Amino acid sequence: MTTAVNTSPATGTAFDLGPARALACRECGHQIPLAAEFACAECFGPLEVAYEFGDIRREDIESGPESIWRYRGLLPVPSTVDTFPNTEPGRTRLVKADRLAAALGVKSLWVKDDTGNPTHSFKDRVVAVALAAARELGFKVLACPSTGNLANAVAAAAARAGWESVVLIPSSLERAKVLTTAVYDGALIAVDGNYDDVNRLATELAAEHEDWAFVNVNVRPYYAEGSKTLGFEVAEQLGWRLPGQVVVPVASGSQLTKVDKGFRELGELGLVEPTPYRVFGAQATGCSPVSSAYKAGQDVISPVKPDTIARSLAIGAPADGPYVLDTVRRTGGAVEDVSDQEVVEAIRLLARTEGIFAETAGGVTVATAKKLIDNGKLDPDADTVLLITGDGLKTLDAIQDQVGPKATVPPSAAAVREALGY
Ligand SMILES: *Cc1c(COP(=O)(O)O)cnc(C)c1O
Ligand SMILES: [Zn+2]
Repeated sequence: MTTAVNTSPATGTAFDLGPARALACRECGHQIPLAAEFACAECFGPLEVAYEFGDIRREDIESGPESIWRYRGLLPVPSTVDTFPNTEPGRTRLVKADRLAAALGVKSLWVKDDTGNPTHSFKDRVVAVALAAARELGFKVLACPSTGNLANAVAAAAARAGWESVVLIPSSLERAKVLTTAVYDGALIAVDGNYDDVNRLATELAAEHEDWAFVNVNVRPYYAEGSKTLGFEVAEQLGWRLPGQVVVPVASGSQLTKVDKGFRELGELGLVEPTPYRVFGAQATGCSPVSSAYKAGQDVISPVKPDTIARSLAIGAPADGPYVLDTVRRTGGAVEDVSDQEVVEAIRLLARTEGIFAETAGGVTVATAKKLIDNGKLDPDADTVLLITGDGLKTLDAIQDQVGPKATVPPSAAAVREALGY
């Protein structure tokens, strides 16, 4: 594995972000040295990590750690494992979902169960990469604006690394997500406003506090790369091949574009056969700016005011929305949206058929897959992977009026038999 040593223009000190070589503008291609920058100075377009990959073999990855760090040769993080903060997300199960497949009417279906991460959502992946890069870039405090899962992941990763954290959330957030952040004892601030207000506030604070790494703001280019590991894992767990179709929930849209980037990199590096695949985006109708733009055939996203139970996806002005449109159109996929009612039914369908309890975002993915199958956009004969990105224990509100005991009985066998109708 090659070691990249870059020099910080600000401090003159050397740092190692593995194969990362520069930040490149996604709009105009302008490149700058690796730094904590997120917008292009030429055109204000978003910056993305550009790499020079070394020679990477499947065996090197397979003999690596049982976490996302087995893919460190493909990420903007230091080359040696020892220097990583002690966060070990990833290597979650890829479940062959035959019973769900039968219910949906598709041939071969897998569920990538990312509820198995340290704080029970895929956000642990992106935060771990952001923290590793932020530490190398000289930051001291881990921060974020969050719709919930990111708050959990940032507070936990900071605690484990011995860092301070500053987490900003909308005050309307689900109680479970507030408590599961607050327990790590960082600074948690509830803001009277929606996520887009909180995000604006974070951008302002990031400009004022030079040693605060807002994972999804000023170190966003590094953070975003963490989502590639979902693509890497799916391909490795399928036996080093790409699926034919993947359905991805869309909030800011970052995850969807990076799963695609991960698949492409594996193909370019010869780690998988570069077979064609189609990427599908899933949104809740109550916050579906990307789906609306897709259906209207537009390239720009019109922001919306979110109103849905899928709060982890409730970003009304999604930063990566236009790139989601590019990705699904280039790969022959689509974006679709589903009602809150369909989300709840899909949470229950996944639980009933596969024994997996997903949060509302997972309900959005499953319900969208169902809709895409029913309207003929998803091919029922192609190998399909659904990304289940968060745990149902965090969004109990969604199902609390829907499920419960079949009966409450006195402690007698006869009463149980009677309740069961035996
Ligand atoms: C944040 C989040 C997503 C999607 O994130 P992007 O902003 O689109 O990258 C998906 N699922 C869950 C559970 C999330 O918390
Ligand atoms: Zn630019």
